[in-house]
Amino acid sequence: MNDLHTHLVRRISAGGPMTVADYMSECLTHPRLGYYATRDPLGAAGDFITAPEISQMFGELIGLSLAQSWLDQGAPAPFALAEAGPGRGTLMADILRATRDVPGFHAALQLHLIEISEPLKDLQRKTLDRVDITWHAGAATLPDLPLFLVANEFFDALPIRQFQREAAGWRERQVGVQDGRLRFGLSGPVAPKALDHCLSDTRPGDLVELCPAGQQVAEIIGARIARHGGAALIVDYGDWRSQGDTFQALRRHEAVDPLHAPGAADLTAHVDFEALATATPSRYSRLTPQGVFLERLGITARAQALARNLSGAALETHIAAHRRLTHGAEMGTLFKVLAFYPDGAAPPPGLEP
Ligand code: SAH
Repeated sequence: MNDLHTHLVRRISAGGPMTVADYMSECLTHPRLGYYATRDPLGAAGDFITAPEISQMFGELIGLSLAQSWLDQGAPAPFALAEAGPGRGTLMADILRATRDVPGFHAALQLHLIEISEPLKDLQRKTLDRVDITWHAGAATLPDLPLFLVANEFFDALPIRQFQREAAGWRERQVGVQDGRLRFGLSGPVAPKALDHCLSDTRPGDLVELCPAGQQVAEIIGARIARHGGAALIVDYGDWRSQGDTFQALRRHEAVDPLHAPGAADLTAHVDFEALATATPSRYSRLTPQGVFLERLGITARAQALARNLSGAALETHIAAHRRLTHGAEMGTLFKVLAFYPDGAAPPPGLEP
């Protein structure tokens, strides 16, 4: 039993069962005991590994797609180059390096990072090594400027609510306490408006997820883009529509029980891209598998160019990384890309309207 477990059992005993969203939010972002407050979760020694940590090619191609989109929109200056959930800063470092030679891009950009984790902010400060970074706790304080934003594995970390279909309505999945231990249970009947459209295509027993926090972020960044121009590239695992129970916990690269060690495991859910597309007032692209997106941007040519300077184990690792990012049996199909862009503009390269 850890400190966060004790805190949650006390909170539930005093106030009653909590929603899955409140549980997820306490576990991930409790200011003192939460997962992101207490560690760097990324990499081989951590709990999970992400695309930019697998290969520099991922960030390079994302950077070129955003920069081309910026050129296509008339190279607005100044503009905000932003990342939601920058982790170790690796993706942004690769974006900045790959766009160094895009005329005017660096002179016009202001760097904005949305991050709540203090240990990760420290790492971002070190990795990026520049004085002009503005950190934000959420999207609402981003500046009123053209916004070119990337979010990789950010939306999957935002708290979800889960609802179970009954004959005529819904019950919400909750976390309660039984014999001193955390347990899942169900609320009394509820009728959330946001689920009205799901009644016709679900059956009793089905589980549906909502991510109000994700929809709110999509609404805010989409409004900036619709109003001032820009583009957002959202990359994550998930699909077009909620997929049943996708609430999961990862610890040291293994799936664990999400209620077992609160605050010590990464908690995520698959992203419902349709819900993000519904929330944005901007245009949005077709949802595209990560492998297809990266192939269209020329990852194979880039991989071959990098391979020329490699041999032995480094070459093996590089070939495996290319496969891991693009292959259908690895991240190529599970991960998807959705872009937001303004009226009158084309979607960023790699994506279709
Ligand atoms: N994009 C990075 C890291 C992904 S991990 C990569 O691809 O490697 C998720 C990131 O989102 C971390 O930086 C985490 O601290 C941040 N994060 C999670 N929940 C957040 C929230 N509610 N608000 C702001 N940042 C959050």
